[in-house]
Amino acid sequence: MTSQEATSTDHLSREYFERALRIAPGGVHSPVRAFKGVGGTPIFFRGAQGGTMTSVDGREYVDFCQSFGPLILGHRDPEVAAAVREAIETAWSFGASEPYSLELAEWITSRLPWVEMLRFVSSGTEAVMSALRVARAATNRNRILKFEGCYHGHSDSLLVKAGSGLAGEAASSSAGVSENVAGETLVAPLDDEGAVKKVFDQFGAEIAAVILEPLPANYGLLIQRREFIDETIRLARAHGALVIFDEVISGFRVALGGMAEVLGVHPDMVTYGKVIGGGFPVAAYGGRRDLMQLVAPAGPVYQAGTLSANPVGMRAGLATLEKVERVNAYALLEERTAEFCNGLNSNLKQRGLPFQITRTASIFWLHTATASAIRRIEQIPAHNVEAFAKVFHGALDRGVYLSPSGYEVNFMSLAHSDELLERAQKAILEAVELA
Ligand SMILES: *Cc1c(COP(=O)(O)O)cnc(C)c1O
Repeated sequence: MTSQEATSTDHLSREYFERALRIAPGGVHSPVRAFKGVGGTPIFFRGAQGGTMTSVDGREYVDFCQSFGPLILGHRDPEVAAAVREAIETAWSFGASEPYSLELAEWITSRLPWVEMLRFVSSGTEAVMSALRVARAATNRNRILKFEGCYHGHSDSLLVKAGSGLAGEAASSSAGVSENVAGETLVAPLDDEGAVKKVFDQFGAEIAAVILEPLPANYGLLIQRREFIDETIRLARAHGALVIFDEVISGFRVALGGMAEVLGVHPDMVTYGKVIGGGFPVAAYGGRRDLMQLVAPAGPVYQAGTLSANPVGMRAGLATLEKVERVNAYALLEERTAEFCNGLNSNLKQRGLPFQITRTASIFWLHTATASAIRRIEQIPAHNVEAFAKVFHGALDRGVYLSPSGYEVNFMSLAHSDELLERAQKAILEAVELA
């Protein structure tokens, strides 16, 4: 079955998408959902449970997108559902002080020693944007250093990419971002301590913070060498710049304490999102007490939110994290994802198929790069997009929903049963074989 034939069975999705194109740019409310990276018409879903989603046409898909990461327990976990129901029966917004955010904040700060204080916001974008504001205020410096291929949300100063080749001042990667704003962001390649050193040699006294995804997972999965992260941190500290770990995707995902825990590093500030809200719009930034005390109303850095610390999200987040801890989710997910990915990898290899999976914990990325370790964006072959698009549609035809872009990672949840994983493994192998 070709993807055209397959999608023609999803006639309701087509109808919805045509309507959506009239009222929303590209028919979506966040770009990757439009299937631009894989072609074809996006599937519209009407429901989900555990490891699966059901389309408006009534077809069931094994879901490895999992809302791009938040659903570590899978869709509609019963304990989270109970917490949400309880919240709905109590109040879903106060715009006033309440105990629910206090409980989640205490739960987190009592477990993650580098989070001495935190502030809840509603998206990862907001968390990062606010953390940078604090860093600029604390250091009285304006420049930020980020890495090529790391995503930190869509605030102006982070929508930048490096100029051709050499690290240095960035150009905006989105229309509508002024050069002045983009120019304050420096960009260095990943996996290159020498380039980071050069940036610090030249701009060290002006850099407020270096922000990094300690596990870059928004441009494929670019697992970094320990020495690179250590040296970046050392250079930042030597030049008086703050170290911000953007753990929106890795926090509470690769370990309770994210990569900070895995690496045994205490960043000055950290940002969380995705898993922290269990599928509701919750994010947070936090870190050293002296830095967080700069935030209004304690200090001069203004930051606010009408729906910040929304009680439904707070209770869903706490229920999620409590369950993750209680059932030792990370060990289970490690075992399950390793088995699934190793199985696929050995089959792909045996059959001489030009795809492989790169994995950390319950995050995995299916791609065409042949190198054993891909650490930088330019190591991703140009044909990856096209090759992945074919596999994506082949898998979709066979009832498996992968994240709809060759640059997006996939997520295992606690709800992916052996039965679902067997089905998915077979479907993905067939899809790769036919691609
Ligand atoms: C998803 C993500 C963001 C942005 O979070 P939103 O909630 O989509 O605004 C920022 N940083 C990282 C590392 C992310 O993975």
